[in-house]
Amino acid sequence: MNYSLCARCLSLGYCKNSTRQLVRDAQLEDPEYLRDLRNFAASLGISADHWLDHLMDMYRDFSGRIVSDGQDVFLNTEVFETDSIREWLRDWACASIPDHVRPRLREESRERIRVLATILSTRFPFEAGLWGLRPANDNRPPSAER
Ligand SMILES: [Zn+2]
Repeated sequence: MNYSLCARCLSLGYCKNSTRQLVRDAQLEDPEYLRDLRNFAASLGISADHWLDHLMDMYRDFSGRIVSDGQDVFLNTEVFETDSIREWLRDWACASIPDHVRPRLREESRERIRVLATILSTRFPFEAGLWGLRPANDNRPPSAER
């Protein structure tokens, strides 16, 4: 897998200057994408108390562009401004999903998950490019945004 970084970002281990796609509805509505996203989030081992700070730090540290349909977009971080955000993060981003459970998108969480996933993709572009991909039915390499 060729995973190159520009010289300026080499010491970071990820590129701050590239373009990321805003996570699309089709991804959010794909149970396997949600499974991979949630399991990846849980694998980071971030406690519910610290998740929001980590996300905001990642978004702040990203100096590239986020685009949707070719247009630059800014993420609406107000989606996290709810009294129950700690409980939501605890339930959603702190524990992996058992294999027999089929993840479903709750409509009220759609934009929150979109923003969370997009922010994670700024820091973990390689991993994010694999979410939802299953080797058995997709032989194409992940399309990496650079
Ligand atoms: Zn770079």
